[in-house]
Amino acid sequence: MSKLLIVKNLHASTESKELLHGIDLRVDKGETVVVVGQNGAGKSTLARALMGVSDYLYSGRICFGEKDILKEPCEERAKMGIFLSYQDPVAIPGLPVSEMLRSALEARGIKKRLRDFKLELSQNLEKLKLNPFAGERELNVDFSGGEKKKLEILQMLILRPKLVILDEIDSGLDIDAARLASSVIHEYQKETNCSLIIVTHNMRILSSLNVDRVYVLRDGEVSCVGDVGMLEDIRKHGFKNA
Ligand code: ADP
Ligand code: MG
Repeated sequence: MSKLLIVKNLHASTESKELLHGIDLRVDKGETVVVVGQNGAGKSTLARALMGVSDYLYSGRICFGEKDILKEPCEERAKMGIFLSYQDPVAIPGLPVSEMLRSALEARGIKKRLRDFKLELSQNLEKLKLNPFAGERELNVDFSGGEKKKLEILQMLILRPKLVILDEIDSGLDIDAARLASSVIHEYQKETNCSLIIVTHNMRILSSLNVDRVYVLRDGEVSCVGDVGMLEDIRKHGFKNA
């Protein structure tokens, strides 16, 4: 497998506190990596560091392909093919979902005929069992928790990133929706050979996926790296041995 992301000695701090204390992590092309850890372990901070979406101070290296992107702003990272689905998706009143998606495509230099875009949008809405008119509604405004998470997956399907970071995509999804999300993500990975970093507490989102590696975070550090078997251990015994 060829490398896609190599993170070395990544630190993240606010002005008064260090939150990540030297994280090492690797994701090859087509791999699925799971990040777990207790509440407050630093999982979302790590996800945001990879996407470059906060005003924390960072040091270390984040190599994406051949490039160190540590200093690249979030928009550049998005254009390079990195995508983060937020743990708490933000509502943007006045911005319809379809318009946001078309602008995001245009920002990446992808121009589609309106008819082709609409067809693709409606096929993907159907795939996710979302209302066919969801594309016309304002982004995340008055959508249910589960629908918001599905809208994040919709963005992934339309924007076609190479590295997909899903931060608790399963929270808010009922059992059937989590299974559906897992299989849609798996289909997308099969089709594109994308890499996945899945931050989760809930093994259901992994039901259709082949997990290559599991990272356990504790207090802003990687406390353990293992294979999929470790998830079963954690499910039974919690994080005390991990
Ligand atoms: P997780 O996603 O693993 O539950 P987070 O990455 O959200 O954890 O948070 C890790 C820790 O960093 C938490 O203790 C959180 O309160 C703290 N933290 C995050 N952002 C800030 C901030 N801006 N200022 C101070 N502490 C922060
Ligand atoms: Mg979190």
